[in-house]
Amino acid sequence: MNQLPTSALLSDNMNKAREYLRRFRSQVVPHRIGGHPGLSDQTFENLDPSDNSVLCMVASGGEAEIDRAARAAEDGFRIWKDVPGDRRRALLHQIADQIEARAEEIALVESIDSGQPIRYMAKAALRGAENFRFYADKAPEVSDGKSLPTRTHLNYTLRQPIGPIGIITPWNTPFMLSTWKIAPALAAGCSIVHKPAEWSPLSAVILSEIMTEVFEKADLPPGIANLVHGFGETAGKLLTEHPSIRAIAFVGESVTGSHIMAQGAPTLKRVHFELGGKNPVIVFDDADLERARDAVLFMIYSLNGQRCTSSSRALIQRSVYDRFVSDLAARVKSIKVGQPLDPSTEIGPLIHPRHAEKVLSYAKCAAQDGAQIATGGGRALNGKGNFVEPTLFVDAQNTMRIAQEEIFGPVLTVIPFDDEADAIRIANDVKYGLAAYIWTGDVGRAHRVARDVEAGMVWVNSENVRHLPTPFGGVKASGIGRDGGDYAFDTYMEQKNIAIGLDRHRPPAIGVR
Ligand code: NAD
Repeated sequence: MNQLPTSALLSDNMNKAREYLRRFRSQVVPHRIGGHPGLSDQTFENLDPSDNSVLCMVASGGEAEIDRAARAAEDGFRIWKDVPGDRRRALLHQIADQIEARAEEIALVESIDSGQPIRYMAKAALRGAENFRFYADKAPEVSDGKSLPTRTHLNYTLRQPIGPIGIITPWNTPFMLSTWKIAPALAAGCSIVHKPAEWSPLSAVILSEIMTEVFEKADLPPGIANLVHGFGETAGKLLTEHPSIRAIAFVGESVTGSHIMAQGAPTLKRVHFELGGKNPVIVFDDADLERARDAVLFMIYSLNGQRCTSSSRALIQRSVYDRFVSDLAARVKSIKVGQPLDPSTEIGPLIHPRHAEKVLSYAKCAAQDGAQIATGGGRALNGKGNFVEPTLFVDAQNTMRIAQEEIFGPVLTVIPFDDEADAIRIANDVKYGLAAYIWTGDVGRAHRVARDVEAGMVWVNSENVRHLPTPFGGVKASGIGRDGGDYAFDTYMEQKNIAIGLDRHRPPAIGVR
């Protein structure tokens, strides 16, 4: 975060993190409903992924808390939906200002809580502020509609916020991902109840403090933004079932998406899902292989491999396969696993012991199914905490579990292919369809493959570079709906048509003799 040597930066980070975490350790981490911190009868332990010690205790929401939060959100919505767009813009910018002012705190707390290396978390906190600024500037025009006149009627449309939204987020980059949902929902004029992941609840507390302060200062009901902690099967489920909640914006596993759909069915909930992926990166023999290799490494081993758009399946053309794989293996072996607050760490601990076990179990699958483990496959740093070695499975076939299932860790599966048709067939032969990456020097091929690959987003000769106005989301089991740009408003707003009869218009006569 400044120009000190690495060891000094680490100790500086640790001292600051200790200070920021003190308040979380000293009392049960509360919900925030209608602006008020509140507890529950139940609590749960939040673990430090570096050593699995108890980082803090957190209030565990149940029926009473979800109901109170949904009602507070209804009260908040009644006022917020009519706040003029330019005022909403100013308030969302104030939230962004506060995120920037507390970016160091957010980054350090998030890094400890989620195990993500500080080198990435510092940027993720600022990306959260950017999300608020981007959607702040959309607030004044978000309600604009179209006029569709006929000879007899003036039709015009209005876009209106749909009501209180349930926002349910996962544990990977939790701060950035929650702002991606919360910012457009608030810009649209909706109120929210946020249920963050139980394995990384802390940065959501800071965001809810910031929003409460901004709304209170503006004499607005702080129930515009509510926070309830708890487990998916209890707090999350109750939120999806609550009749006052009009839509669920969810980021998480595909199987959880199916549960939410079923839970929300009796109240006909609108859903927006950002789900899992098993994203192919296709490297053709005419590509710039060095750049391709760097991108493959970055897209699977950064963020601990816990990234929905990670390039977790590398499809490499057979003619360059051996060379590419041996370069890849050499680089994977030199990736640094370490403590999350160490600025030189490239991979930190995975989020939870259960998740680390799951990720490690794939080494057995790979061996049983006949793939080779080029490097990794075991625990790192002497087995304390959830540290896993960066792992490379090679000579795999797409039918293997390591090629079909989302592992969600620093694990890459490499599969050879023969030609373009073979690459597309393999790329599409999974249930997911989130992102795809294509490396080629042939522009015609780039367009052909981009069109035929089943994915919501395709990057050609690039890693995942996010441009906020563009749509973000997946097809097949990877999602429903899009984030980003104006696309996000399809979740949070309804189109209303208003038709005004003009002078010429005479209703059909009835009852006239
Ligand atoms: P998860 O589905 O286990 O949990 C996500 C959230 O859902 C948590 O807050 C959890 O408490 C809640 N939840 C669990 N069961 C629930 C239920 N029955 N009803 C309501 N809520 C419930 O996912 P995770 O393990 O936290 O996150 C990792 C997953 O998220 C991966 O599959 C990853 O690909 C996906 N993800 C997708 C995107 C995207 O944009 N497509 C982005 C990030 C993460």
